[in-house]
Amino acid sequence: MFKKKYDFIVIGSGIGGLSIAALLANKEKSICLIEGNKFIGGYSSTIQVKGYSFTHGVKYLYGCGPQNPIARFLKELNLEKKIKFNSFSQDCYDLIHIPGKDVRIPFGVKKYRNRLIKLYPEHKEGLTKYFDTYEKIFKELRLNKFLPDKKYILLHPLKHRTLFKFEKTTTQEFLDSFDFPMDLETILAGQIGNLALPPKEASLIGHAGMVVFYCNGAHFPAKGMKHFNDELVKIISSCEDSEIVCNQFVKEIHIDRDNSYVVTEKDKKIYGRNIISNIDPSQTLMMVKGAKKPKFEKALKYKYSDTFFQVFLGLKDIDLKKYGFGKWNTWFHQDIGVNKEYYALMKRNDFKHSVSFIGVPSILTDKNMLAPPGCATMEIITIVNYHYFKKLYEKDRKKYNSIKRQIAELFIDFLEKHYIPNIREYIEVKEVWSPIDIEKTFRTVKANMVGSAFNTDNISLDRITWKTPFKNLFFIGATSTMPGITGIITGSLRLYDELI
Ligand SMILES: Cc1cc2nc3c(=O)[nH]c(=O)nc-3n(C[C@H](O)[C@H](O)[C@H](O)COP(=O)(O)OP(=O)(O)OC[C@H]3O[C@@H](n4cnc5c(N)ncnc54)[C@H](O)[C@@H]3O)c2cc1C
Repeated sequence: MFKKKYDFIVIGSGIGGLSIAALLANKEKSICLIEGNKFIGGYSSTIQVKGYSFTHGVKYLYGCGPQNPIARFLKELNLEKKIKFNSFSQDCYDLIHIPGKDVRIPFGVKKYRNRLIKLYPEHKEGLTKYFDTYEKIFKELRLNKFLPDKKYILLHPLKHRTLFKFEKTTTQEFLDSFDFPMDLETILAGQIGNLALPPKEASLIGHAGMVVFYCNGAHFPAKGMKHFNDELVKIISSCEDSEIVCNQFVKEIHIDRDNSYVVTEKDKKIYGRNIISNIDPSQTLMMVKGAKKPKFEKALKYKYSDTFFQVFLGLKDIDLKKYGFGKWNTWFHQDIGVNKEYYALMKRNDFKHSVSFIGVPSILTDKNMLAPPGCATMEIITIVNYHYFKKLYEKDRKKYNSIKRQIAELFIDFLEKHYIPNIREYIEVKEVWSPIDIEKTFRTVKANMVGSAFNTDNISLDRITWKTPFKNLFFIGATSTMPGITGIITGSLRLYDELI
């Protein structure tokens, strides 16, 4: 079944594994892409139920416009005509709800700033300084093509003054340097769920990068993420010497100068000159057998981003636009104060206040791509405490199942109260994913949402890159690039430039 020796073995078919495998296969390198699950894509995979499609980890994409990393990626693979993107609303790509107020975040940092100045004129000076700093951080990240390059930054310290100044600053510390009222702070930190960390723990640089990047344009694949991934699969499969092998979790990696191999849990040995791992860097190094591991302590010790609880709904015979939804995501904050909201969930598992993100992807794709005609999809997500679910699952399976059901019902009650009366009459499909389901399916450590935590330790000059202690082993994925589909694809392009 397996070719004797591949140029590259790629372990894991998340967007990192898929994108680097497609780039290399396109250059006629022989690839064996090995995926543990029966399906491709990891967090970017799509679940299909009764004509509805749901993607775990893609709500919107940044960097899809011209001269952005995705454009280069598609051009490299000749896919520019096949993969198109639809834009979120220019006037509102994210809607932040706080008690008594809806704030629509438009494209354009200046527009966003001016909108907030209109709401809080007494904070004009502070808001101007706040957004100027965010733009400076973004500009310096752009100089690095969005993956901070330690060598380049150290060689050009004057070009990176803002990154140096704020390397150890959290979003909250930065907010504290102003006298913004709590409701304005809540709005400014309202999208921080994207980082799966609260303002008190999130890196200012990570937060600024995310906010400005999305303000520069937010898109969704016009035919859905499955189509995007399928096109990459086609490229790999059409390369004569390459294969995609599913349903084989890798358990060991053996590194040799020119004859490395991996062993799967089904005891298959697959040989390759190089190995690229799309699984967690720390887990990858633990799998390496029989070679002396040079010291690489940093790679083994980092905090992970938090995990999440997600409910997907397939709604029949409904027009969501009539219920206040549109080409935007909604961040629903039931209280003022994002840290307070976050710790209530983490420490007290207060699910009553937990709905935080509502996405309506079927509004964003071309017609009928994600739902049957006249129907719609909706996705509700909140960050939760991994240990709570893990303990529950291990100690009392019945209670775990009951709590999982209860949380889903709470989410639906919430939608009924705030948006769609009688929503239950429209529900045709309900898919509920707890951190345990995620962990069991994708084997991500503690079911983390975006790889290592977006804190100041990890978003730093010492961030892990594709480099490992071994010449022919490489990392690709959320923890070794900048997380998010675009960040990871940017990392694949950088690794590709290195390897080709
Ligand atoms: C709820 C949620 C919402 C998100 N929203 C967005 C968003 O709107 N926009 C955005 O850009 N990003 C978003 N993200 C982040 C983004 O989806 C992820 O960062 C990205 O998909 C991770 O890709 P990856 O390549 O690192 O690997 P993963 O997706 O983690 O894939 C790793 C693959 O490796 C496989 N695997 C694991 N162990 C083994 C093994 N031993 N052998 C073989 N295979 C193995 C897994 O099955 C999996 O397929 C979101 C994430 C989540 C969870």
